[in-house]
Amino acid sequence: MVRASIGTLTVLGLRDIRMDAAPTTAYLMIGGRCASDCAYCGQGRNVVGDHSRLSRISWPEVDEDQLIAAFAAHPGAFQRVCFQTTASRGVFRQLLSLVPRISQASGLPVSVSYRVTRDEEAEQLLDAGVERIGIAIDCCSERLYPTIRGGTLADAESLVGSLSERYPGRITTHLIIGLGEDEMEAAELMLEMRHAGVLVSLFAFTPVQGTQMEHASPPLLLAYRKLQFLLGLLDQEDEECFHVAYDATNRIYSFGLSEARMRSFLKRHFVFVTHGCLGCNRPFYTEVPGGTMFNFPSMPSEKARGVIDQFIRDLKADGFEFAERQNSEG
Ligand code: SF4
Repeated sequence: MVRASIGTLTVLGLRDIRMDAAPTTAYLMIGGRCASDCAYCGQGRNVVGDHSRLSRISWPEVDEDQLIAAFAAHPGAFQRVCFQTTASRGVFRQLLSLVPRISQASGLPVSVSYRVTRDEEAEQLLDAGVERIGIAIDCCSERLYPTIRGGTLADAESLVGSLSERYPGRITTHLIIGLGEDEMEAAELMLEMRHAGVLVSLFAFTPVQGTQMEHASPPLLLAYRKLQFLLGLLDQEDEECFHVAYDATNRIYSFGLSEARMRSFLKRHFVFVTHGCLGCNRPFYTEVPGGTMFNFPSMPSEKARGVIDQFIRDLKADGFEFAERQNSEG
């Protein structure tokens, strides 16, 4: 069984819905009901009701040959193909057979989000034509990991870190903000992943009906923006140039940058767009059109100035410190 996000099917001409933004990556999903039971995920084995959703997106089934033909008929429609998978029987075999077919029909780089457990699996995926392997850590908190996700954060970090060491430039991880972690836990994990050469993609938690966390709230926008800003700094700046400081409640209260430097950085790098593999924009995965835009699917040129102003205003209202880092500081 293959599923594709409704936006992907629309770009391929297999569905017809009105879209506020088209996906620049084709998002496919394979695997049946997931053997895991993550408290926030719409695919978990104990989810009540509709299993056709991951985040806010619906994923209709599609015939494999029809999908291949549609890719061949729409060259240039996407910049990348991304496979999401569930922990279920036969997924790995299906990936090994489907990736080369899709890769050939589309001519696009392929990302696969799959929990690799052995080096040989990673090797087989890369040999099949996968460009990047995504291993989702999701939960940034050691305290919460065992209950929300199962297992330990330390094990997940070590798995992702060692794969990145072995396959440099080929490993991506997903972090979900808003699962109950604090800002320091998320920021420190991002720094660690960055040092390990792992590409970090941020998601805002979205409550999905039928899951254990269906009544929990999305993250605070300001907390999410600070983490996006940090991710942008890690992409663009030498770590000598900034300094992340936390208050007693583990919130980020300074980057060691003045307001002018933060504004100038944001004008050059609008870091509030979706961050992930090249070409991935995930439109409205975690947003409602017209609602809070945690990740913009593309640079909102007419709104960018207002978004930056709002971010700076919210930081000031929160008592954020804009003092420039002194060279003598640690
Ligand atoms: S960042 Fe985007 S393309 Fe890369 S694995 Fe995640 S969802 Fe797929």
